[in-house]
This record gives sequence, structure tokens and C-alpha cells, in this order.
Amino acid sequence: MKQKCYQGMTFRPYINNSQIQSRVQELAAAIKTDCAGVTPLFICVLNGAAPFAIDLFRACEDIDAELTFMRFKSYEGTGSTGDVKQIMGLSENLEGRHIVLIEDIIDTGNTMVSLLAELRRHKPASIRIATLLFKPEALEHPELHADYVGFEIPKKFIIGYGLDIDGLARNLQDIYILDE
Ligand code: 5GP
Repeated sequence: MKQKCYQGMTFRPYINNSQIQSRVQELAAAIKTDCAGVTPLFICVLNGAAPFAIDLFRACEDIDAELTFMRFKSYEGTGSTGDVKQIMGLSENLEGRHIVLIEDIIDTGNTMVSLLAELRRHKPASIRIATLLFKPEALEHPELHADYVGFEIPKKFIIGYGLDIDGLARNLQDIYILDE
């Protein structure tokens, strides 16, 4: 693994793909135990979580499960309500479903908190959160609990394996960290 350069910044190798894959297997084992017999609906939050979601879903091949994809769109204010968030692209009925929500990273947790509030309006039976990366030092919502965490990392900028820098670097197989 060599360093990568984007926009004049250097990123050094941080977590390689075989480490990612072995962690994915461990998370999948936990999900399979927790979701046995309920046919969970995996919801991948695009774009960043796509590689992780697909690897995790395939690692759960010996349970019945479904996979779907969504985007979470922020809109600038409509008068007094301010920033309005909306789920895009979900066609499934979530009522009574057991959901495994798959994110690439939880940083401040703001995105996940809004997303959970929106999903709960659709009355699922349960929502479990799987995130590849989690920055505990950046978290602004102590009540937020992720059920399946790939790696806890410091409050630094990460790219690769789905995570981008201005749309680039999502196709890197490994994860890189900004070299400061
Ligand atoms: P949060 O709402 O938890 O602060 O941030 C969530 C979103 O910010 C993530 O879904 C991701 O798009 C972006 N993000 C946070 N930290 C990083 C990072 O280290 N690298 C990249 N590429 N995106 C990040």
C-alpha cells in the first residue's frame, strides 16, 4: 500500500482490505445471530456505504435478508422549519420490518440522528445500526448507539472503500488517513 495524493493532500495507508474483510465477517456473525428468523431489511445509505453494505450483505448469505438503497437528501430551509431532510429512493414498506441501517461513518452523529428520526416515522419493528467507521471523539449525540461498529478511529479525515474526497477515492480497496 502506497500513499495517495488528492488535491495536494497526502493520505497514508490506514486499514487494509483484508483487515476490513475479516471485520466484516465478525460483524456479519453478530448480525446473523441477532436477526435469525426475522428476514431483516438491510438499508444502505448511498453513496459512501455501498462497498461495505454489499460485502456485509454477502457475508450474511446463510440467513434470509433483503438489501435496498437510499439517499438522504438535505434541503435548505422552508421558512421556520429550516433544514428539512428527506429519504430518497426507498420503495419498500418499512412498517413492521427489522432494519439493519448501513452507514460508512459516524462522525458527529448528526446525519444518523436525523436519519433515525425519519425512518422511525415509517414504524419499523426495529432498527439496528451498522457503521464501518466511528469517531467517538467527534460524537455530539451521546444517546446514539451503533450496534455494529467496524473500527473506532480518531477524529481525522479518512478516504477509500466508499469514502470520498470530492467524489474521488471511493474506489480504493483500502482505507487511508490524512497525513498531517
Ligand atoms: P456526521 O453527520 O456523523 O457528522 O457525518 C456523516 C457524514 O459525513 C458521513 O456519512 C460522511 O459522508 C461524512 N464524513 C464524516 N467523516 C468523514 C471522513 O473522515 N471522511 C469522509 N470521506 N467523509 C466523512
